[in-house]
Amino acid sequence: MTDAPITIIGTGLAGYTLAREWRKLNADAPLRLFTTDAGHFYSKPVLSNAFAQNKIPEQLVISDVAVMAKQLNAEIIPHTEITRIDPESHHCYAGEVAYAYSQLVFACGATQRVIPIAGDASAVMRVNDLDSYQAFRARLTSCSAKRVTILGAGLIGCEFANDLALAGYAVSVLDVAPYPLSRLMPVEAGQLMQRALQTLPMTWHLQTHAQQITALEHGAYCVTLANGEVLDTDVILSAVGLQANTQVAAAAGLTVNQGIMTDAYLRTSAADIYALGDCAAVQGVVLPYVMPLMQGARALAKTLHGQATAVHYPAMPIAVKTPACPTVIAPVPPSQAQSGTWQITHDAPESTTLKALFHHQDGSLLGFVLMGKAVTEKQALVAQLSSGLS
Ligand SMILES: Cc1cc2nc3c(=O)[nH]c(=O)nc-3n(C[C@H](O)[C@H](O)[C@H](O)COP(=O)(O)OP(=O)(O)OC[C@H]3O[C@@H](n4cnc5c(N)ncnc54)[C@H](O)[C@@H]3O)c2cc1C
Repeated sequence: MTDAPITIIGTGLAGYTLAREWRKLNADAPLRLFTTDAGHFYSKPVLSNAFAQNKIPEQLVISDVAVMAKQLNAEIIPHTEITRIDPESHHCYAGEVAYAYSQLVFACGATQRVIPIAGDASAVMRVNDLDSYQAFRARLTSCSAKRVTILGAGLIGCEFANDLALAGYAVSVLDVAPYPLSRLMPVEAGQLMQRALQTLPMTWHLQTHAQQITALEHGAYCVTLANGEVLDTDVILSAVGLQANTQVAAAAGLTVNQGIMTDAYLRTSAADIYALGDCAAVQGVVLPYVMPLMQGARALAKTLHGQATAVHYPAMPIAVKTPACPTVIAPVPPSQAQSGTWQITHDAPESTTLKALFHHQDGSLLGFVLMGKAVTEKQALVAQLSSGLS
């Protein structure tokens, strides 16, 4: 180990949480963080429920970069992309400028997936940070938009759909799946979410996808779907999933799959290099949510401090920010998806309360979905849950 700083690539929730946790253990040793954005600290989950509250980007900043640098006693280098690393010599590079590190952490997040669409595909917007949120808001206001088309009915797509509908926009949601949130919940629960959101100004276009986008006059667009439907819209937002940022790690020879591969200690395949947050595949699994990165940051801070500590995940339920249908999901671990069955309790077709429990063949609880009044059962079920991830 050298006197060079511990270096973190990324100042999202993963980078900053790790920096905080590590500073609790080590007040003085040098710490450096890089980020391609401005480096302000904010909570990314608020991006998908900030419209209805009419929040401008500045109101989402919790602490600006100067405050963060002071609080963390760290050098934070904003608007700077790390383009290459050399694990042998322990250097990372922003273009031609080399920076030595003692230990390096990839906390470089994930990028929204781009799906090929013919025509004016550049009209498609994505929101994954403060800058893109600002651009999205500016587009909505600059063209006096009234209609928004959302590509993708997953967690983020549904949250934006609810938020934008509450903010007064007419929302169309597209997904190739037959029901929303299809990766996280059984069909009965997805259909309940669909019905609940449909009480807002919202239309669903399921089991289809956008094939062509054509610019119309006055800044509007026409979206042609694979099923032949045609939607006129003012703004198109894509929320079709994330792709971990693995390019810099892969180019340096680190092992990557869906993310930068790590063991339970968040160690990558290269000495003194770690990965955390949306960019990491911890023991092969990418968990792009806040709770896993918090657990990881606490463990990794100790490891960086010399006390090798494996990450252990407790049950980590996700609250879906869809006020039209309060929902909590404890996702079934992907490796266990075929190992059991869903048991659904739904009193009546029109009821907005539903409980879905996923049990392993051996009877143990592996995941759940709670909707409406059933969300009050969260704590009791969390206590029963064996996450299968730790
Ligand atoms: C709209 C939305 C709503 C969400 N809601 C929830 C929710 O309700 N609950 C939940 O648990 N999760 C939610 N998530 C997911 C959660 O926000 C993410 O898991 C988490 O914020 C990821 O943090 P991160 O630090 O790993 O990545 P990011 O926040 O993406 O940060 C990555 C950082 O790396 C920097 N960077 C990238 N490449 C480089 C490079 N080459 N050089 C230098 N810097 C680089 C970036 O500039 C940035 O600073 C949501 C996500 C979105 C998009």
